[in-house]
Amino acid sequence: MSNFVFVGPPGSGKGTQAKLLVKNHGFLHLSTGDMLREHIRQGSELGLEAKKFMDAGNLVPDDIMIGMIKTDIVAANEEGKPVILDGFPRNLTQAKFLDRMFEENDLDFSGIVSFDLPDEVLLERLTGRRSCPECGYSFHVIFNPPTKEGICDNCGHKLIQRADDTLEKAKNRLIVYARETEPILAYYADENRLLHVDSVGTPDEVSARLHDLLGVSV
Ligand code: AMP
Repeated sequence: MSNFVFVGPPGSGKGTQAKLLVKNHGFLHLSTGDMLREHIRQGSELGLEAKKFMDAGNLVPDDIMIGMIKTDIVAANEEGKPVILDGFPRNLTQAKFLDRMFEENDLDFSGIVSFDLPDEVLLERLTGRRSCPECGYSFHVIFNPPTKEGICDNCGHKLIQRADDTLEKAKNRLIVYARETEPILAYYADENRLLHVDSVGTPDEVSARLHDLLGVSV
C-alpha cells in the first residue's frame, strides 16, 4: 500500500476518515490544516503569516505550503510509512508540484480519493463542528457528539469552534474550494487516478465505504 491523497470540500469528513485509517492501518496522516494550526499554536513565523489567510477562509500561499510539506512526505516514505495527504493539494499548482516531487523521489500513489457530498450538507457540518486544538480530532454537536459535552474523546482536552467554521467564513471556504480546488479533480480524472467515495452519512458508514473502495479491512 502506498500513498493516498484525500480531496474534498471543507466539512466532507476527509480528516475524520484519515484519522480512522491511521489508527487502524499505520499510515502517517499529513493534514496541512492541522500542521498550520500547530504552527499557529506554537507562535512560529510561518504560523503568524498563515493565520491571516486561514482566519478569512482563504488559501495560504503555495510557497509556504510546498516548503512545509515536502520533507515530511519524503521522510515518512523513507521510514516505510505511506502517507495520507489531507488538504494538500488544494489547487493545480500544488497538484503539479506533488506529481513532480513524487516522480523525483520515486514515490507512488495508491489513489486520489474524492469525498463527495451535496453543498447543502457541508455548511451544516462545518458550523456544527467542534475541534480539539490539542490532537486535531473533530466532532459534531448533533451528528457525532463527543461522549462528554465539549471534551475531546481522544485526549480529554476542551473542544473549540474553529475561527473559520463560523457561517460567514465557512461560506467563503466553500467558494474558495469550488474556484481553486475543484479543478484538480478534473486533472486527476484525466489521468484515471481518481476514486470517489459517497461522503453522506455517519463516520462509520463512510468508513465502511472507504474501506471497500481502498480494499483494506476495517
Ligand atoms: P483544513 O483544516 O484542511 O480545512 O484547512 C484550514 C485552512 O488551512 C484552509 O482554509 C487554508 O487557509 C489553510 N490550508 C490548509 N491546507 C492548505 C493548502 N494545501 N493550501 C493552502 N492553504 C491551505
